[in-house]
Amino acid sequence: MHVSIFGTGYVGLVTGACLAEVGNDVVCVDIDSDKIDALNHGRVPIYEPGLTPIVASNREAGRLHFTTDAAEAVARAEIIFIAVGTPPDEDGSADLQYVLAVADTIGRHLQRPAVIVDKSTVPVGTADRVRAAIASALAERGVQIAFEVVANPEFLKEGAAVEDCMRPDRIVIGASSDDAVERLRRLYAPFNRSHDRIVTMDVRSAELTKYAANAMLATKISFMNEIANIAEKVGADVESVRQGIGSDPRIGRHFIYPGAGYGGSCFPKDVQALARTALHHGHTPVLLQAVEAVNERQKSHLFDLLVQHYCGIDTLRGKTFAVWGLAFKPDTDDMREAPSRRLLQQLQDAGARVRAYDPEAMDEMRRVFGERDDLLLCDSAEHALQGADALVLVTEWKQFRSPDFAALRDVLADAAIFDGRNVYAPEMVEEAGLAYYGIGRGRSV
Ligand code: NAD
Repeated sequence: MHVSIFGTGYVGLVTGACLAEVGNDVVCVDIDSDKIDALNHGRVPIYEPGLTPIVASNREAGRLHFTTDAAEAVARAEIIFIAVGTPPDEDGSADLQYVLAVADTIGRHLQRPAVIVDKSTVPVGTADRVRAAIASALAERGVQIAFEVVANPEFLKEGAAVEDCMRPDRIVIGASSDDAVERLRRLYAPFNRSHDRIVTMDVRSAELTKYAANAMLATKISFMNEIANIAEKVGADVESVRQGIGSDPRIGRHFIYPGAGYGGSCFPKDVQALARTALHHGHTPVLLQAVEAVNERQKSHLFDLLVQHYCGIDTLRGKTFAVWGLAFKPDTDDMREAPSRRLLQQLQDAGARVRAYDPEAMDEMRRVFGERDDLLLCDSAEHALQGADALVLVTEWKQFRSPDFAALRDVLADAAIFDGRNVYAPEMVEEAGLAYYGIGRGRSV
């Protein structure tokens, strides 16, 4: 099929590459000419496992194209995806300016009947607005071309995006005609072979499903962080509690890990946007507001543990901290809303120095923070430790999981580890002669 995709970010680029990989002819469009230029020179601007090889092979095979030419991309396609960003507006609601700009572009250039597929995460009712924007642009041209707008929210996870796209848990299709569903069924057939993963529904339910999924996941995280904070106060270990509750199949073991707070480009903005939608419709989203409040507080928790260990904020002045992990989670270079950003800011405000390292996010780090006297961007985990007083682990990359604790004790002047993801066994750390602080590990604090 001839597919065009607007937005060449995490969602658009991965979707485009995977659709090309199974034989479609795909054009990825972006207004960011630097990004398109890089892709046309074989450089993939984001880190996502498995993405670079399929972008390269499909480009070479002539099935995957990158352009800023929206008119040509619209004119040739039978299926057009909208996969542009929906960042938070000032009041937390989703900013739809990019989505609606694409809708207008589609209306201005549409030449043949097409299905318009909204993959961006958008509030309930957006498909109606997209439809209206396209219809209005077509009317201005004085032409009538059949089109349908379908809600097909994306559930891929950064860090496993290619895998999720190739083997999705589910494919949600919200449409008002059987014909549109059928066309998407055919497009997704290669990813839907072992059993039917396609869930069809009306458009509004599909739009809400995406927010409900992210809000549920964020709720699980905030819930566990709440329990962790209680565990810390009462002298219990949240890791034992986690295992104790996870063995109940109604609760399950997934996604109940306490930590330094959730970040990324989705959970924070989607929880906020869903809360705004609820308020807009006269419903006070008490639970969602609490989920967000708990997360906001949690992002300061590592810093609070540092203050506790050093008996006050003033003692942090002049100290040097090695920070391992900057991306909002492992296997990505994405630092949007990452807990590390809050910590780095707090350390800077307290007059501390930081030696920071992340396996993939150093370029992003350079872009976001720049290099400063009090912030050294290091080229390895070991380099970050040199001259540091203590280690703070913020993102649980695999390579940070089994350090030589005896060597850490020798190199860290204050011999202390602050483990923002509970990846270390406190006994092992303490046996090596280091102080250990985790999240909700009441036994050691
Ligand atoms: P992104 O910021 O990585 O990429 C968006 C791209 O859209 C940018 O390259 C931008 O230049 C481009 N763009 C903006 N306006 C454009 C226009 N008029 N025409 C063409 N391109 C345009 O965003 P993302 O992370 O890929 O997210 C896209 C959407 O998918 C969002 O709504 C997001 O909430 C949702 N989503 C993201 C993820 C994720 O893990 N990143 C997962 C599921 C859903």
